[in-house]
Parts: sequence; C-alpha cells; structure tokens
Amino acid sequence: MKILVLGSGAREHAIITALLREEPQPSVTCAPGNAGIADAVPVTALDPNDPVAVTDYALLHGVELVVIGPEAPLVAGVADALRARGVAVFGPDKAAAALEGSKTFAKRIMDEAGVPTGRAVRAGTLAEAETALDEFGAPYVVKADGLAAGKGVLVTDNRDAAIDHATFWLEHGSVLIEEFLDGQEISLFLLSDGENVLPLSPAQDYKRALDDDAGPNTGGMGAYSPLPWLDAQFGSENAFVDEIIETVALPTVRQLAAEGTPFVGLLYCGLILTDAGIRVIEFNARFGDPETQVVLPRLVTPLSGLLFAAATGTLGGLPRPVFSAEVAVTVVLASENYPETPLTGREITGLDAALAVDGVTIAHAATRVDGGTLVSTGGRVLSVVAVGDSFAEARARAYEALGHVSLAGAHFRTDIAARVA
Ligand code: AMP
Repeated sequence: MKILVLGSGAREHAIITALLREEPQPSVTCAPGNAGIADAVPVTALDPNDPVAVTDYALLHGVELVVIGPEAPLVAGVADALRARGVAVFGPDKAAAALEGSKTFAKRIMDEAGVPTGRAVRAGTLAEAETALDEFGAPYVVKADGLAAGKGVLVTDNRDAAIDHATFWLEHGSVLIEEFLDGQEISLFLLSDGENVLPLSPAQDYKRALDDDAGPNTGGMGAYSPLPWLDAQFGSENAFVDEIIETVALPTVRQLAAEGTPFVGLLYCGLILTDAGIRVIEFNARFGDPETQVVLPRLVTPLSGLLFAAATGTLGGLPRPVFSAEVAVTVVLASENYPETPLTGREITGLDAALAVDGVTIAHAATRVDGGTLVSTGGRVLSVVAVGDSFAEARARAYEALGHVSLAGAHFRTDIAARVA
C-alpha cells in the first residue's frame, strides 16, 4: 500500500516507525517530515496544510491512504479535499475536527450525547467570566475556546491569574470556565470509521515541564503505556476500555454521524478519573504526542490495515487491535527555555550511542540536518522511546539512552513512569 503521512513531529515519526515494522512493508512517504523521518522514508517539501497541493500530490503519485498527523491540516480542510477527490484519508473533515478545535462544540456534542464531562460555562465578556469563576470557586479552570497550540488552558488557585488568562483569550474570542476535576488522567485513542470504533491501549502523559508536575503546561514531556493501575480499579484494561466505548466514544461518534458530520480518524479521549466517575476533559481529532510514541511500539496488529479500514468505513466486525505485554516509556528532550521561548539551532549528538541501548528507538520532532550536522529546530526536540518487560527496565533503558544524547541547555523530566508499579 502507498501511504502518505502528513506532519513533522515525533508522533508522525512514531506512526512511520510502526508502519515500517509491518511485513510486507507498505510504501511510505512523508510531508514535510524532519531529519529522523527523512532517514527512514522519502520526504517531500509539500505544504501539509494546503488541501489542493496535498490532493494533487496524492492523485499524481497514486497514494492509496493519507494519514494526517497534526490538527492544522484537519482544520484547513485537507481531509475534505482528499475525500472529495476519492482519496482514502485517515483524519476527520473540518466540520468533525471541530470536536478538537472548538471547546464549545465539543461540550454541546457531549451534552447531546450524554457523555460525562465537567460542568462549564461559556463566557463572552469579562463580567460573565468573573461570575462563573466565583460560582465554581478555586482551583479555577479557564480555557480558550479555539485552538490555542496547547496554551489555552490555565488551572490555578490564583483568581487574578485566572482573570488575566480570561482577559487575554477574550480578546481572541470566548472562553470556557470549567469546574475543577481531580484525579488520574488517561489518554485513550480510538480509531473511528464514522460509525464503528476500535480502541488502542491507554496511556498517560506528563503535561508539566518539570519533575513532580511542577512548572508550566507543555505539549507533553513524557508518557507510558499500559496503565497497570487500571486493573485494580476496573478489573482489567479491557473492562475500562469497554466502559469508555459505551459511555464516551460510541455516543460521541453516533451524535456526530446523526448531525451529518461523521468522524473518521483518531478519536483521542482525554479523560480524568474522579471520585464521582470518569469525565472527559477534552477530545482531540488526531493521535496525541507523546502518547503515540508509547502506544504504537506495543501494537502487534498491522497499523496500515487499521488506518485503511477506518478511512474506508470497514472497521465494523474487525477484531480489537492486539498489544504486546511489553511496556513502553517515552521521555521528551526539550530545548533550553521550552515552553516559553525555546532556543534552537543547536547541535544534537550521541544518537547512535542512544540507539545502541536495548529496546530503544528515537522519534525525532524538531530536528534538521544543517551542513551535515543534526540541529534542533523547536521546543520539543525528540522523544526517546524504550520498551521493556517492566517499567523499571523500560525506564532504565530510556534514561540510559538519554544519557548519551547531548544538546546544550536541553532539559527533560527524570520522573516519567517513576511511580508506576
Ligand atoms: P487540555 O488542553 O484541555 O488537555 O488541558 C490541559 C491540561 O489541563 C489537562 O491535561 C489537565 O491536566 C488540565 N485540565 C483541563 N481541564 C481541567 C479540569 N476541568 N480540571 C482539572 N484539570 C484540567
């Protein structure tokens, strides 16, 4: 199968690594990719956010499946354009991608579908925001309504900071004030063909920049999969996944279909396990980063077949994807000053030694080869991924590999999966 992957992050590198593990190997290209991806497959300088350019490329090169990694092409209508010309695409149309792009839309869908989520009030003015903040009380949760590149959510005990955040985002549109939800967070990915869903294995990510969940929110500093503590609470991972399918995923997919905006692609359920039960904190319309880096290395079922079945409306009747008993841990290496104003353009060395560690792969994110030297080009530079028979083993491998990597000023969390039994 000829597959085009759109995107340039560690998530896309992890997707491509999973595709290349298959026998027989699909033919994969990527636009635009990064230095690590370019080492693995041919890359093309196509703009992934340009619906016409992507569609023309796919038709010209006989691409049989386009896999959209990031949200930007979804919001730009790239999936709509491909579908209109008969190209199979894994990724929702613009209208269904609003599940991620508009928190108000997502809340309405959840309300209509009876999906459990935090109570929230949409505020269009500062006065409305203040009233809602005082109604819910501290800790305060303020969310920008539109896409905000991971910077839209503030959770704080400080009322003034909550008001500042609301004031800033009100200049760009409306904000959502939400009740604070306390509990373990879980990311569950489900493949959807618009009608049927198939779950992948759950993961947990680490959103804060520093150890012990200190520092600002980031795009994600690490992750692990599976979540052994789910067994204690639900009896098994499958029992947990069944509950999410019945109470969250299927009602959401059915509601979107009933509204004429079927969701074809990756339904990412961001969940929180409160004392009162499971609540959805957010949906995303694509694979999560860095969770993808720990979910896909454990996937035994060939990924291309699953993505193609979702893209062509044929998931119904397929067995659930199978995962290995191995565990996976990923640690993100971030540039100096990430997430504020990352300092980039610095040399990265030691990857060969890192890759020599058992069970280790590296998913590149913000890397480029500049005159024969590998350099950083953004905040999250790469994900070191390690599998093992236990979390102790996978963790030890990931951190041993990171010890070999040099990037001036870089930082990473040292507590990823540290407290997982
Ligand atoms: P989001 O961008 O919606 O994923 O939010 C970023 C992070 O903010 C989440 O991963 C949670 O850690 C936190 N968060 C979002 N909504 C809430 C909430 N209602 N209660 C507590 N924490 C939240």
